[in-house]
Amino acid sequence: MPPLGSGFTTALSLVRIPGLTEIAEMPENAAVIASLITERPLCMPCLSDKAGLTTDGVRAYLRRIERVLTLRQSVDRCRACGEVTDVFAMFRPE
Ligand SMILES: [Zn+2]
Repeated sequence: MPPLGSGFTTALSLVRIPGLTEIAEMPENAAVIASLITERPLCMPCLSDKAGLTTDGVRAYLRRIERVLTLRQSVDRCRACGEVTDVFAMFRPE
């Protein structure tokens, strides 16, 4: 896993109160989540763990990402923990 930028660390200190305002202020989190699930389905617990966000936070960002990119939710094998469960993935448009 590549090291995350300093913006990510700053974001971590701000995620305690999930809400729309925080999302508007931290587009880098949406980018982190998008990069985590690009062409690699992950389940919610793994996504939450890897992004360093609460599941509520991840869901809020997924909704934001969904506005601009095609997000796919399906039952598949999580590429991180191997569980067959609800996973989220994103595929780059051709
Ligand atoms: Zn998983």
